[in-house]
Amino acid sequence: MTIRPGAPMPEQLRHWMRAKAHPARSVPCPVCGAGEHQPCHLKTRNRTLTEPHPQRISDWALSTACCPACQVEPGIDCHDDGWARATVHDRRTQEAKDTAA
Ligand SMILES: [Zn+2]
Ligand SMILES: [Zn+2]
Repeated sequence: MTIRPGAPMPEQLRHWMRAKAHPARSVPCPVCGAGEHQPCHLKTRNRTLTEPHPQRISDWALSTACCPACQVEPGIDCHDDGWARATVHDRRTQEAKDTAA
């Protein structure tokens, strides 16, 4: 088939063009060692992941967003009643995504 100029784009192609790199790629990944703006990959196999590692998303949310759940500023770890959390609150991740969108 041919695509004429001005013809509507095939839905599949449009979807592909809309897919952007995950904003969490702006920080390095602590899990697989991917550098800034590089996609995550599996250590064992030479495979690239479409989604960043959860820990990377957590790091990214930590460095870019304030947490609406525990009221900390960017760069400060989330906490539950004063106890530091290993990961950020889900709401903070959401906040970071909303800000990046
Ligand atoms: Zn990774
Ligand atoms: Zn928090």
